This record gives sequence, C-alpha cells and structure tokens, in this order.
Amino acid sequence: MTLIRNGTVVDGTGGPARRADVLVSEGRIAAVGAIPRAPDGATAYDASGAIVAPGFIDAHTHDDVAVLEGSAGDSGSNAAKLSQGATTVVVGNCGFSLAPWTPRPGRLEPPPPLGILGGAERFVFPGFPAYFEALARADALADGRASGHTVVLCGHSSLRAARVADLGAPARPGELAAMERDLEEALDAGCAGLSAGLAYPAALASSAAEVTALARIAFRRGKVFAIHLRNEYDGVWAALDEAFAIAREAIGASAEPGARLVLSHQKCAGPGNRGRADELLSRIDRAARDIPLAFDAYPYDAGSTMLEAESARASRRVIVTWSRPHPELAGLDLREAADRLGLDPDDALEALKPGGGAYFHMDEADVDAILSHPLCMVGSDGLPADASPHPRLYGTFPRYLSRMVRDRRLLSLEEAVRKATSLPASVFSLPGKGVIREGADADIVVFRPDALADLATWQEPLRYSVGVDLALRGGVVAWGASGVSPLR
Ligand SMILES: [Zn+2]
Repeated sequence: MTLIRNGTVVDGTGGPARRADVLVSEGRIAAVGAIPRAPDGATAYDASGAIVAPGFIDAHTHDDVAVLEGSAGDSGSNAAKLSQGATTVVVGNCGFSLAPWTPRPGRLEPPPPLGILGGAERFVFPGFPAYFEALARADALADGRASGHTVVLCGHSSLRAARVADLGAPARPGELAAMERDLEEALDAGCAGLSAGLAYPAALASSAAEVTALARIAFRRGKVFAIHLRNEYDGVWAALDEAFAIAREAIGASAEPGARLVLSHQKCAGPGNRGRADELLSRIDRAARDIPLAFDAYPYDAGSTMLEAESARASRRVIVTWSRPHPELAGLDLREAADRLGLDPDDALEALKPGGGAYFHMDEADVDAILSHPLCMVGSDGLPADASPHPRLYGTFPRYLSRMVRDRRLLSLEEAVRKATSLPASVFSLPGKGVIREGADADIVVFRPDALADLATWQEPLRYSVGVDLALRGGVVAWGASGVSPLR
C-alpha cells in the first residue's frame, strides 16, 4: 500500500484541482480524500506543494524497441518517458511497427521508413502475438518497473513490407487479402488499432481504397485508425481531405463504438502553411461533426523523421539525427555536415542516407494554437533509435505543461492534464486509465509545476527533465527523482 499525502489532486477529468490524499493498494486507487493516517504497512510520500495527477499517456511514440529494452541513454526501462511522468505509451505509429515484417530474401533490410525503429536485427516478430509475448517478458523481467503500459498499433507500412511485392504500387487483391488477415491477427493479439504513414516510401503508392479496406477492419472492432497524412506541406489540405474521406467510408454503417480517427502530429509545416493553424483547426472541427476523431501534437517548432528532400526544402534549418554511412556527423547542422563532406546540402542529404533529420519548419504560434485545441492529445513522437534524437524524446510533457500552463497561460492546469490523460484514455479505449478516482488503475504522477523543466536540448538531447518527483505505474514506483524518498 502507498499513501500520497498532502498533494493537490488534478484528477484528469478537467474538474477543479483539490487538496486530497490518495491511497493505493494492489495496483488500484483505493481511496481519494482526507486520509490522516497511513494504514499499517503503507509507504507514505509527502506531496506537499505538488500536483498529483493520473500518469500521462504519450499518445504518439516510436518506443516499439524502447519498451522492450529501454530508451537511448537510460538503464533498461523506458525511463525517457517515465521521467516525464508518462506511464503509458502508444507505439506503432506512422505506419511502422516491429511486426509483422521480418527480413527475408529480396528484402533483407527494413524498407524505409521501418528503419526508423532500428536495423534489420530488431525485426524479429513475424506476427503481433510474438511481440506481445516479448512485451510481457520485458515486464516480468523488470519486476513492474519496466516500460510502463504499452498500447500497440499495427502499422500499414509494416503490413505492406510483409505482403506487397512492389512497394511502389498499390497492393494487388491477393496481397490486400493477406494484409487484412494479418491485421485481424494483430487485433486479436491485442493491438489497439491500425496506423498509416502515407507520406512514407513504403506507403506513398498505396491507394485510398487499400487503406480504407484496412481501416474498416479496425473500425468494425471499435479500434483506432491513426494516420500520418500523405503530405504535410503544400499538399496537407488535400491530404486532410483524403484522411477524412477514408474515415467516413471506413466507418460506414459497421463501425463499433470506440472507432476513432487519429490525425498524427498535426502541424503547419513549411512556408506555405505558416500562420494557418486556425484554418487547419476549423477544418478538423468541421470533420469532427460526423467523424469521431482526435489528434496529437508535440510542443516544438521542429519535426523529425527520415532524411528526405521535401522536408529539408520546407525548413529553415536541418539537423542530422543519425546517418548509417556517416554516424560521426549525427548532431550537426546539415550545412556543417555538407561542408565536412565537401558537398552542397542537397548532395550531402543524399550521401547521408539512410539517416534522419530534424526539420525546423513550424511557427511557435501555430504550435501553441494546435496544442490548445480541446481534441489535441500530447504525443512526443520521439525517436529513441536516433544517435542524436530530437529533444522531444526526453522533454515533451514537462515542456508542454510548463509552456502551456505556467509560462504562456494558454490552458488551465486541469485542462492541460485532461488532454494528456483522460482524453487519450478515451480515444484508445483504456478503461481505468487517465483518471484519479477510487477503483482506477494506480498510474500516478507527482510533479511540481514551478520546478518543471525540459533540459534536453539539441546539443544534449538525452537529458532527463526535472520537476517530476514520482511516477507510479500500477501502484509500483517506476520513477523517483533523487531526493524523493518515502517518509517511512
Ligand atoms: Zn509520423
């Protein structure tokens, strides 16, 4: 048993903060209210001056390997996220997941973008049942301190890599039928839905009909369809319309409750889109009248993905986050990397592939407007396999809360917490998560709003954030900042 005493509870529903003690027993919240004395055998933590909230849910991650093995720079558990107070992560986003593609004759290396997750040696799961078994083993090994809860999406590009002979073409009927069977198996095994990343090479040639057929399977089972749009630059408006059309058709008459469209990492990227957040959000609002939907975003004005020319052209600055042929250039500006290679930036970008980049292509005002929207969840989109990752991997939640609530006063603390807790819990159908109330899962974060700070920078991206004193996952201490110790 654990008693968190004297804190201010922000319960995740958006309701007003209140002084209350929280008692945890056997992985659940046993009581919330005035609990003056710790029951016999309970460990008590003093949360005076701190906020007690539901563990945050990172709605958009690429932690598929990190939840098995730990994230870059930490020691076995997914501490990059637990240190931010995120006790649940959603993996398998943007169309790529660790299953079901495995290396095979003719396709020995993960086709882009699957390599964002790691090299061919990471892809050892011919189906999702094996991936879920590995997750369960990792949990058991870590004795409850492991990765946090993992919500898994099945990636459309991973299905294609496993089943479609020519990734530069739409799936043929037999190939689509095989992908549909694989997706059914993935959902049977426990996947929360399907993801797609239509901008990426493995999926760019897929037809809307192919994606609709797969999304329909997810929706029929009350699951999520998360989409990284086919284009995020000048083509974003048409790409949004495509996503809405796919969702409308896939929902049809057969969707079950829980079916939900998730628009991944919404942004206004590139010179043609700057300052257009209001237009983006009003289009989403209009679609939300007849499509159950939500979206996610991260609190930074730079994105990060594979090295590719379109993103570089749309950006005022590019940083190399990893490079297979030139690992020593990770962390440098593309211009500097180009100088070292004696190439112009366009040729350097090609020479650095396969690799990753961070792209400064957004305006802060658009980021703020998007993150303020009531349907916007918080998704770090961090890339743990990168040699020099975007600081969002270690900084997203403290940065979101400090920026949106304390520094810019764009959201109340209660609303900011709701968007990071009960909103994603509802979108991904996670009963028991995202709220502090009797009977809920004991995923709890204790943080000090005045002390919250993201310390991860472009120069030092693997630094833990500060301000999160404690994260309980299923009642077990999964993160405790140094200096925080039980009262007894
Ligand atoms: Zn994406």
